[in-house]
Amino acid sequence: MSAPEPDDDAPTPLEERLIALIREHGPIRIGDFMSDALSHPQHGYYATQDPFGPPKKGQHGGDFTTAPEISQIFGELVGAWLIHAWSEIGEPSAFNLVELGPGRGTLMADILRVAKIRPKFLEAASLFMVENSGRMRYRQQRTLHDTGIEAVWADHLSDVPPGPTLIIGNEFFDCLPIRQFVRTAERSETPWRERLVGVSDEGERPRLCFVLGEEALPGPDGVPPGAMPEAVFETCEAGLSLMDEVAERLSAYKGRALFIDYGHGRSGFGDTFQAVKRHRSWPVLAAPGLADVTAHVDFGALARRGRAQGARVDGPVLQRDFLLRLGLEQRLAAILDVVKDDDTKALLRSGAERLVDADQMGALFKVMAVSSPGLSEPPGFS
Ligand code: SAH
Repeated sequence: MSAPEPDDDAPTPLEERLIALIREHGPIRIGDFMSDALSHPQHGYYATQDPFGPPKKGQHGGDFTTAPEISQIFGELVGAWLIHAWSEIGEPSAFNLVELGPGRGTLMADILRVAKIRPKFLEAASLFMVENSGRMRYRQQRTLHDTGIEAVWADHLSDVPPGPTLIIGNEFFDCLPIRQFVRTAERSETPWRERLVGVSDEGERPRLCFVLGEEALPGPDGVPPGAMPEAVFETCEAGLSLMDEVAERLSAYKGRALFIDYGHGRSGFGDTFQAVKRHRSWPVLAAPGLADVTAHVDFGALARRGRAQGARVDGPVLQRDFLLRLGLEQRLAAILDVVKDDDTKALLRSGAERLVDADQMGALFKVMAVSSPGLSEPPGFS
């Protein structure tokens, strides 16, 4: 896909601020750029844009779409998975049901609809939506209002009270700030440099650009052996700390967590820092605040961290395999049975297909479960 140029070449307010900051203090980490680009309270992407939805001709439309926005079946199968998890932990009469980064709230609405078949699950659940954007919170409140179920909004998982907990996060880890390290050709104990964001004055106006940090560094934590010169290795400290928190919580209280995201099962080399705007790839440092910026999730690193903290970790498995094992085809057939209109049927079929097709979301997206020690393998993993 060719990268579109920003329509208007004027710097965004966030770009101006970042350029001024870098001129004063020097280059910043990629993760600091990412946090501001996504979550700056006035100028960040989630504070200013309406990210979700298909592209629309002649008008803005959305920038990307996610599995729950594509097909209701995604949330229904996840809902059934959560109800099963609740049974596995002994059907506690009070537990926390937590969603991390709920977007428009569609996934939770689908989960809650399915959960109506188990009224005791709904009665026992205290619902927590972990969301740091005021604009997205408002969107989620509107969606959940129609379900009639009360929820509490929180900034962090740590704000959720202790107790048995079930957690779901779809496309959450990919938003967390990463760092990138580049292997130089130097033969020394410290052949790595951090890739940072600096300012270039070479064009018609100053622009953000990548620069290499001056400090020579040893191999970053978790780096696999055999890096060739120019290899890029990414780390996501925020993701690993979140994993620590999840694993600690699930060791202290019974529960399970389900994480779905795009990424790789094994730690490896490569630059996955990317931006999208209107469903197309976008130059990652251009117009911060206007485009969604993410990085692939290193599930290998997350799984190692979860296990090191004593949790049970299953997967990652391909989203395709997970959803088919949970009965996507049977659920689709049941819905198609009650739908009369051919256009709706076609839409339902193509939505389900998109979730599992290996060339669409089926193989790039992976699913990983984290469970309290002693629990058995959850459904969908073999
Ligand atoms: N899970 C949703 C949306 C994914 S987009 C879906 O599948 O459709 C990422 C979501 O995470 C958005 O709601 C965004 O505002 C939120 N988010 C991003 N970074 C966050 C952070 N550090 N803390 C809390 N929420 C965050």
